[in-house]
Amino acid sequence: MANTDQTWDQECDVLVVGSGGGALTGAYGTAARGLDTLVIEKTGHFGGTTAYAGACLWLPGNQAQERDGVPDSADLGRTYFRAVVGDATPHELQDAYIDGASATVTFLEDNPHVRFEHRPFPDYYAAPGRFEAGRGVFPVELPAPGGPHPLLDAVRPPAWADRLGLPAPDGPLTDGRALIGRLLLALESTGNGRTLLHTALTGLITEAGRVVGAEAAHDGGTLRIRARRGVLLAAGGFEANAELRREWQDLPGADWTMGAPGGNTGDALIAAARAGAATGLLDQAWWCPSLRFPDGSAAFTLGLRGGIFVDGSGRRFANESLPYDRMGRRMLAAKAGTTPDNPVWWVFDDRFGGELPGITVVPADRHAFTAAGLWRTAETLDGLARQIGVDAEALGSTVRTFNGYAAEGVDADFHRGEDPYDRFFVADAATRAPGAADANPCLVPIESGPFHAVQIVLGDLGTKGGVRTDTRARVLREDGLPIPGLYAAGNTAASVSGPHYPGPGAPIGSAMVFGHIAAADMAGQEADR
Ligand SMILES: Cc1cc2nc3c(=O)[nH]c(=O)nc-3n(C[C@H](O)[C@H](O)[C@H](O)COP(=O)(O)OP(=O)(O)OC[C@H]3O[C@@H](n4cnc5c(N)ncnc54)[C@H](O)[C@@H]3O)c2cc1C
Repeated sequence: MANTDQTWDQECDVLVVGSGGGALTGAYGTAARGLDTLVIEKTGHFGGTTAYAGACLWLPGNQAQERDGVPDSADLGRTYFRAVVGDATPHELQDAYIDGASATVTFLEDNPHVRFEHRPFPDYYAAPGRFEAGRGVFPVELPAPGGPHPLLDAVRPPAWADRLGLPAPDGPLTDGRALIGRLLLALESTGNGRTLLHTALTGLITEAGRVVGAEAAHDGGTLRIRARRGVLLAAGGFEANAELRREWQDLPGADWTMGAPGGNTGDALIAAARAGAATGLLDQAWWCPSLRFPDGSAAFTLGLRGGIFVDGSGRRFANESLPYDRMGRRMLAAKAGTTPDNPVWWVFDDRFGGELPGITVVPADRHAFTAAGLWRTAETLDGLARQIGVDAEALGSTVRTFNGYAAEGVDADFHRGEDPYDRFFVADAATRAPGAADANPCLVPIESGPFHAVQIVLGDLGTKGGVRTDTRARVLREDGLPIPGLYAAGNTAASVSGPHYPGPGAPIGSAMVFGHIAAADMAGQEADR
């Protein structure tokens, strides 16, 4: 839309759309450099899916790692990232991420509200440069404010509470909530940052090819917001947009996403595409196996202590202890758990006392699951096979073979338990299944009835396809030239990791680095390397 006679409801130097990790890193970056920065957030909460996250951040070679004795470096990180991602994304974009990681942490920690620490969590691939003990850093827990606090009180509750419609629990902000809380406090401390909740970007305003502002739905009307330096789109992916997911991914994923509700329907991506942005990786997401819930939703499931996954033929199709995105990709390849008609069943015996042998980020009520047919129980494996509609001979044979592998400590089919990631969640006796053998605690026999089967489907932590960006986080047109005044970070952008999830913290880590780079660019500076 070209218009030289614009009228504006609000003016700022920088408009930031969204309030996840990339958005708030960018907003702090411009505000700390003296630019008048306005953050708009569609929902009534700050933080988006970032607030749900463990907030591991994959940022190789940063000062928090150094403080905590992790011998990482940008070069080691690059070796690993390149080995995993290869040529799937431009090398210069990968280098911008890797080389910007350390500077992002240093810049943020220069503000007294922001502090990170290392905690172990292995990288997801056996590749050169891997840190088996984990290289990720996490935000340090944020003590609860002494009283009401307009910013911190509006941080999105953790996933389990949000799903149940509950407020955030009392006490310190942890994980993703700590990251969002800390970045909000840092933004506030600059004196140059403003925030508007319940304000949704609906379109971009351009003049002679440059983005000069945006329109946003607010309070039943439309706000026209002028952004003198630029607009940073960090409004998540399109995970909650059922129509786009069917069109671009041919999957019913919108019901099964872990994306925070009410927000990520691809608004920023659509607005940017209308302004001429090129897009990529639209068929991609950060996949994860997910427990299917009676209300039709699903919840991220990881860290299996026992049980096997079988498809509709009653056979295993992957190493069940794989990192979640890799398991999700096996599910896609096997067309297992990708629609309501082809569920995966998580089969385990009763040694877990009727509890799920793994972590689900939203707790499951066994009775409600049983009533909905999502959790089946039978005294015998044959009976279980009949209940879940798979061939009894095939399921029996799968379990017999698996129990043989458990006795030997070697999974000859899928090599479960051979990788440090597989063993991470069963590393100590307290987390191991009763009867798990020391030789390979990931292989737990299925032998003592009653037997259980619980439905698993292909969920995601958000989509990762979006607008194409360059090393300065500028949004690109189809011809490869940047759209002046327009930047993107996080799941609004086509991910620097392409169709891979290299290690814990890649989604938020890369969102933060490109938010940081965009901020420096809008301030007319090059981000420190
Ligand atoms: C349980 C769980 C654990 C995870 N753990 C990790 C982890 O440890 N490390 C990691 O890196 N990743 C993790 N992830 C993945 C990660 O949380 C997401 O991929 C990432 O946070 C997405 O960041 P984002 O900034 O793109 O989107 P979001 O954090 O979702 O932020 C987008 C925001 O934009 C807002 N918005 C949308 N449309 C508009 C609009 N039109 N106008 C204004 N605002 C809008 C949304 O409401 C939302 O608040 C985890 C995910 C889950 C669910």
